[in-house]
Amino acid sequence: MTNELKTMVKMEHIHKSFGKLKVLLGVNLTVYEGEVVVIIGPSGSGKSTLLRCINFLERSQKGNVYINGKIVERKERAINAMRQNVGMVFQHFNLFPHMTVLENVIEGPTQVKKIPKKDAVITGEAILEKVGLLDKKDIYPVMLSGGQKQRVAIARALVMNPSIMLFDEPTSALDPELVGDVLAVMKDLAQEGMTMVVVTHEMGFAKEVADRVIFMDEGIIVEEGTPEEIFDRPSEIRTKEFLSKIL
Ligand code: ADP
Ligand code: MG
Repeated sequence: MTNELKTMVKMEHIHKSFGKLKVLLGVNLTVYEGEVVVIIGPSGSGKSTLLRCINFLERSQKGNVYINGKIVERKERAINAMRQNVGMVFQHFNLFPHMTVLENVIEGPTQVKKIPKKDAVITGEAILEKVGLLDKKDIYPVMLSGGQKQRVAIARALVMNPSIMLFDEPTSALDPELVGDVLAVMKDLAQEGMTMVVVTHEMGFAKEVADRVIFMDEGIIVEEGTPEEIFDRPSEIRTKEFLSKIL
C-alpha cells in the first residue's frame, strides 16, 4: 500500500458508549480509495456501532472521523452533506412500502438533491438495470423477495453517487438461496472500484472480495490483515477462537 492512495475514511481514537456500556474503546481505522474492508467479529463486539459512527448515525463521545480527507464537523449541516457521499445498506432493507421500486430509488435524488424527476428517472432506471431489477420498477416492495428488496436498497444508495458504501450484514436476513444475488451485486461494485466497508458473516465473500479483513472483539480491532493472513494464519487467540466457531 503506497501513500499515494487517497484516504476515503479515517476514524481516529473513536470512543462510543451507550450509558455505562463502553462499545468502542478507541478505534482507529483507515480505508483507502477503492479498498474493500470486511469487518468480522462476534455479535455485540461493536461492528454495527463502528459503521454507524462513520456516517454519524451514532455520535461518538471522543475521536474524529474524516471522509475524503475532510474532518466531519459535529453539526447537522456538515453531517447531512457528508451523508450524501456515504451510502449505507442495512440488514433490514427499510424500503418505503407505499412507493414503487423506482419511486424508492429516485426519492433521494429528487427530495435531497433536488434533481428534476425526469433526470432522476433516467439515472434510477440505469441503476435498477445494473442490479438486475429494471423489470420490477413499477411494483411495490411487498411483491419482492428479500434478495430483490436488498438489491433495491443497494440501488437506492448508489443512485446518490456515493464515494463510499457501508454494508451492515446485508445478507443476514435473507433466505440462503437469495444471498448469492446480493453478494454478486456487491462484488460487481467492488470490481468497479467502489470503496466499501462491509460487516458480514459471509466468509466466502470476505476471502474472495476483501482487500483487508478486520477482526473486532469487545470494542477494539483485535487484528487485521489480508484474507489469507486472517483466515489462514491468524496471530491472535481471540481471532482463532472466533474462526474455529464459524468456519
Ligand atoms: P455488533 O454489530 O458487533 O453485533 P453492536 O455494535 O450492534 O454489535 O452492539 C455493540 C453493543 O452495544 C451491544 O452490547 C449492544 O447491545 C449495544 N448497543 C448497540 N446499540 C445500542 C443502543 N442504541 N443503545 C444501547 N446499547 C446499544
Ligand atoms: Mg451488528
